[in-house]
Amino acid sequence: MLRKTTGAVMVVGGGISGMQSALDLANSGFKVYLVESSPAIGGKMAQLDKTFPTNDCSMCIVSPKLVELGRHRNIELLTHSEVVGVDGEAGNFKARIIQHARYVDIDKCTGCGLCELVCPVTHLSWFPEQPGPGEKKKKLKAKDKVLIKGTGSPEPSSLAPWTFSVNEDACAKCGVCHRACLHDAVSWQKKNLHISIRTSVPAAVPALLPARKNFLQLP
Ligand code: SF4
Ligand code: SF4
Repeated sequence: MLRKTTGAVMVVGGGISGMQSALDLANSGFKVYLVESSPAIGGKMAQLDKTFPTNDCSMCIVSPKLVELGRHRNIELLTHSEVVGVDGEAGNFKARIIQHARYVDIDKCTGCGLCELVCPVTHLSWFPEQPGPGEKKKKLKAKDKVLIKGTGSPEPSSLAPWTFSVNEDACAKCGVCHRACLHDAVSWQKKNLHISIRTSVPAAVPALLPARKNFLQLP
């Protein structure tokens, strides 16, 4: 009996390794779902200035990949999303994904930053990260504080879409950003989306994998 298989791959993790894996697979003709938990792809590399040991400019490496990913017709980006379950067998998996509401319409948002300017709430950004249990809290500088959480990455210079999202945990729901936005991009109607996709291989791509050949991790 012939087994029914699906010609799509789900890549989990939108850092540099996940992005390159998605591009390689998409260029080989696979449909790729790139799932990233943060509101934007790019990962840590998009937050760095230079890379070790060659001292290359990080964004010069990441930017072309961001643009190619955003335009590739074989790649579907699922940012601000988490995989909550995978069922099935090799060649035919069904993945359940929750796409968290960003409360900002990315088709309308121009990334002007006005909402960030007017937001009265101050909280810590995602970078630097919160201290772990038993660790000392780092002394924050003014630049480490943000009002409304931007995507963090990519940088505007990357030519990739630059949009904002509301951090639901920190938001005081005052509505000031909604009134300030000139493009009517802040929307409180958005709810979490439950998405179901069919894939032949679910691939997790954690950062800093030692060898590229090991990038597929089957459950
Ligand atoms: S949500 Fe509105 S105010 Fe905020 S960055 Fe986008 S366009 Fe600007
Ligand atoms: S509604 Fe939330 S995100 Fe918007 S300005 Fe008020 S506290 Fe900031």
